Amino acid sequence: MSKLPNIATSIFTVMSKMASEHNAINLSQGFPNFPVDKRLTDIVAKLATENVHQYTPMSGYPPLLSKIAALTKKSYSRVVHPETEILVTAGATQGIFTTITALVKTNEEVLILDPSYDCYEAPVLLCNAKPIRVALNDDYTPNWEIIDKACSSKTKMIIINNPHNPTGKILKESDFQSLELLLEKYPNILVLSDEVYEYITFEEKHISANTREKLMNRCIVVSSFGKSFHITGWKIGYLTAPEHLMKEIKKVHQFLVFSINSICQVAISDYLDVVSTDDIKKMYQEKRDYFRGLLHGSRFELMPCEGTYFQVASYSAISNENDVDFCKRLITEYGVAAIPISTFYGDGKDLKLIRFCFAKDNATLEEAAKRLCTI
Ligand code: PMP
Ligand code: GLN
Repeated sequence: MSKLPNIATSIFTVMSKMASEHNAINLSQGFPNFPVDKRLTDIVAKLATENVHQYTPMSGYPPLLSKIAALTKKSYSRVVHPETEILVTAGATQGIFTTITALVKTNEEVLILDPSYDCYEAPVLLCNAKPIRVALNDDYTPNWEIIDKACSSKTKMIIINNPHNPTGKILKESDFQSLELLLEKYPNILVLSDEVYEYITFEEKHISANTREKLMNRCIVVSSFGKSFHITGWKIGYLTAPEHLMKEIKKVHQFLVFSINSICQVAISDYLDVVSTDDIKKMYQEKRDYFRGLLHGSRFELMPCEGTYFQVASYSAISNENDVDFCKRLITEYGVAAIPISTFYGDGKDLKLIRFCFAKDNATLEEAAKRLCTI
């Protein structure tokens, strides 16, 4: 008997595989196809011959922990203690898994807001806890009334994802006020704030949970260098959390991975001296605008995109098929891969929406758009 009977192969694996089999342009799984910053690859090349090949301390390479603390201070004016409040992880995925398994107990409930990224539910189930899927509003803002109704003495954690994959939505000041008000009623609920796209935001200002005084003592914030620095294959990210929670998280981390690969940690530590998060934001804003411009005149209706490198589009003017079938046909007939949004819903709700990843070089975006405009 499976421990996870309803967990299927991730849609990102399924679509990337199919894209590759059909030689399609892959705008499905979220990863960039343009070269990594040469300053970073030069650092890595140089490090290969240096003495950086052994275990780092369990929480992370100490200079990297200090640089993360400095980045958190610069970005969010939050002071985090490098030794006690930061943990370097094998990507955000491991940070999320470790956090949930360390903090959630049997029969407790974890609120997941739908549509949601796919890595939250499995660790909750493995804790013998209960994922409670709560729908976002039609415009993808949280419905705090419904969230409030879903909370009870059993609720251990609310997971928020800001900026939001797949919709690109960013939480507003009023959302944080509602969340904080709600948490006053439930002193035991923790917040897991997945902010892997924190540096990919556009007109709207990203408000990190790390800026919220009222969340400080009960919130774990998840970051991903993979997303921020176009190195998804490195699988490296970090958590910030108050010491009492971090202590528990580290108990699991030490036996799950113990420490994260050393060269990547040293390289990123050096790179943080030179990289500008403003440049990343600017580059992606140009990509978003370029891609949206290229699709202007197609029969896809583009949804707003406030952050992330994903563009959600409605194909309801094109076809009545369900979104999974439509995405499959997009690959086989038009040579472009996208992600069906229904897979982000616990109940598979089909709204005739698909997600394109625009973290691609301009030639790729141009060719993909050319094909999409023929539909
Ligand atoms: N959270 C969200 C919302 C994501 O889109 C992703 C995919 N990068 C992750 C977590 C996992 O990030 P990582 O690749 O660093 O594990
Ligand atoms: N986060 C990526 C996305 O949303 C997928 C990463 C993965 O495949 N695990 O496309």
